[in-house]
Amino acid sequence: MKKITLILSALLLGVLSFGQNAEKCATIQLLQQRIQTNPVYQKAYTDFRKENQAQSDIYLQNISSGVQQKTTQTNYVIPVVFHVVLTQPKLNQLGGTSGVRDRMLSQLDAINKDYNAKNIDSTSIPSPFKPLFGNAGILFAPAHRKPDNTSTEGFDIVLTTISSFSINNHYGSDPKFSGYGGVDAWDPTKYLNIWVVDITENTLLGYTIPPSFINYGFQETEFGVVIDYGNFGKRASMSQYFNPSTNDLGRTLTHEVGHFFELEHTFGQDSTCSGTGDDGIADTPPQSDATYNTTTACPNFPKFDICTPTGNGIMWMNFMDYVDDKCMYLFTKQQVNRMRSQFVPSGIPLSLTQSLEVLNWPNGIATTPTKSQVELFPNPTKGKFDINLMNIEGLEQITIINTLGQMVYHYSNCSEKHYEIDFTAQPKGIYLIQYQYKAGNKTQKIVLE
Ligand SMILES: [Zn+2]
Repeated sequence: MKKITLILSALLLGVLSFGQNAEKCATIQLLQQRIQTNPVYQKAYTDFRKENQAQSDIYLQNISSGVQQKTTQTNYVIPVVFHVVLTQPKLNQLGGTSGVRDRMLSQLDAINKDYNAKNIDSTSIPSPFKPLFGNAGILFAPAHRKPDNTSTEGFDIVLTTISSFSINNHYGSDPKFSGYGGVDAWDPTKYLNIWVVDITENTLLGYTIPPSFINYGFQETEFGVVIDYGNFGKRASMSQYFNPSTNDLGRTLTHEVGHFFELEHTFGQDSTCSGTGDDGIADTPPQSDATYNTTTACPNFPKFDICTPTGNGIMWMNFMDYVDDKCMYLFTKQQVNRMRSQFVPSGIPLSLTQSLEVLNWPNGIATTPTKSQVELFPNPTKGKFDINLMNIEGLEQITIINTLGQMVYHYSNCSEKHYEIDFTAQPKGIYLIQYQYKAGNKTQKIVLE
């Protein structure tokens, strides 16, 4: 009996520790698998880490010397497409096409808040970490034009007979190729491709192939993010399907997109405290292992480990750790610098911001946007101007873009008819105001003198 009890406890412990410590994200696992296949990749990875560090050092120098505009002054817009590849029963679990649409909008809202330091739970950042709270200034918008110039809402649904996709096939890339039962990427230099599938490995929430992984045998058409359909979007009601239920705030994508911009986990790749055991980011404390929720409550602050045994402890509430969605609140300023330093000429992130025409509905739709009328006054302006909208029915967002394609102003909650805009701090020039309606876009120019 005693023996049986022992075996049972061992089994139970095994199950518990598996449940608590299983990988939530396979990004680094896929990297390591590739590195193991070829010694050249190991060197390439070591070199990339050094170059990536140097690149963000240059970015920081440019900021301090004024060459590069500061985070708060420039925003990047990234066109996104969600490829939903599911069996019919699983699509039904999401609520069919309208369910996917709702999830996509709530998903974009969640990551846009997290990438613009507008997440309301940032108030939960422990006060010693508050000065480190970073604003990435990156906005994600649904594509409205497919590569063939026909219209899209920003997602495509492909029914499949494949019940789930494993990371053990083709390094997790089956969802990305029609030949393997998935759907081919849209031009990866214009769209951030996100595949929503059922991932075979139950504990895995997602994984990412960032542009740097081209050094380790991946192709450009594999760039992007794969997330499990059970953690797609942000929960709007208790009856919605989420699995696991603790990751229902849309932060799987926040985390994975962090990888896309070349962030690593705050706990590094192993239990050491430096080198590959660290994320190479100066203001995230060294951390030996991933943090998991052991109860429904968030971990206590401060929480110490072997790498940070004193002071404020580890930063378990960082988006790049493994806590539940409700316990993660921030990227740090240095993580933001690392992400923004990826926006360099010839790099994929900057390339994505240069193709904003894919955000516009195709011409046939755009020329007959809505019945609404927009009054802009004064135009030209010395700095302050008003936008008066006669009709806001179906209005989703207002975005103002400079001639470099950078977003300088954004409203996603357009319940008002009147907007007072202050551009006194902006450089003189021509700006495009884009009104995005459900049925199409309307664009106006304003001149700042
Ligand atoms: Zn990860």
